[in-house]
Amino acid sequence: MGKKRGKCSIMSKPLLNCQQICKSYHDGAQSVQVLSGVDLQINAGELVAILGSSGSGKSTLLQIMGTLDEPDSGKVYFQDQDLVQLSAKEQANFRNKHLGFVYQFHHLLPEFTAAENVAMPKMIGGTKKQQALDEAKELLSQVKLEHRTEHRPYQLSGGERQRVAIARALINRPSIIMADEPTGNLDADTSESIFELIKSINDSFGTTFIVVTHDQGLAGQMHRTLHLRNGNFNAK
Ligand code: ADP
Ligand code: MG
Repeated sequence: MGKKRGKCSIMSKPLLNCQQICKSYHDGAQSVQVLSGVDLQINAGELVAILGSSGSGKSTLLQIMGTLDEPDSGKVYFQDQDLVQLSAKEQANFRNKHLGFVYQFHHLLPEFTAAENVAMPKMIGGTKKQQALDEAKELLSQVKLEHRTEHRPYQLSGGERQRVAIARALINRPSIIMADEPTGNLDADTSESIFELIKSINDSFGTTFIVVTHDQGLAGQMHRTLHLRNGNFNAK
């Protein structure tokens, strides 16, 4: 494994570089420090799992790395670009171009077919509908759903919906896919197949994955596993 990755990690800067990320939430007089100085470097092509008990800040960190939330302090660099400093519009463009997101609940649009759901981010990025749909169908066949392209989400199983969500996250060929408990709602066999899919996408496209999961066994299949405790990755 990883000749290419090893070389890449030695020779180039991290793809994503978080420095001293702090985040607290305030509720009236109460204040909860969720992240207290998180440092994290992720190289291109890495498969990284983030583990941590419920409430440890995994989703908060993922949202901050994905420009969907702001840290109180700290930096998030994508290559040399400081993501925290971008305007909201620039962040939205950045996400559309470079990031894909997958959640525990698929967040597919119920009134659209699988192919239309997958095509959506491509159309938002300015591609014409037919071309976006053609690419969406191609991707759906790569996630083994060529027979489900015209189905709506309610006609699909949980595992199939997550495959559609992964295809949607892939359509703009992002550098990084951020997945927040993508198998949290699935049975063990289906979860295993989703992790197999993640590994095969990583192999075929070199896509970097940051996957939040509760499942130690599945996390162990990634290149690197990090435990979030007491607000960062070092505290015991
Ligand atoms: P995890 O994903 O690891 O379960 P989260 O990142 O969702 O944890 O949440 C971390 C902590 O921050 C929890 O204690 C949660 O209650 C708190 N929290 C998350 N989002 C908010 C919010 N918008 N307002 C207040 N507290 C929040
Ligand atoms: Mg969470």
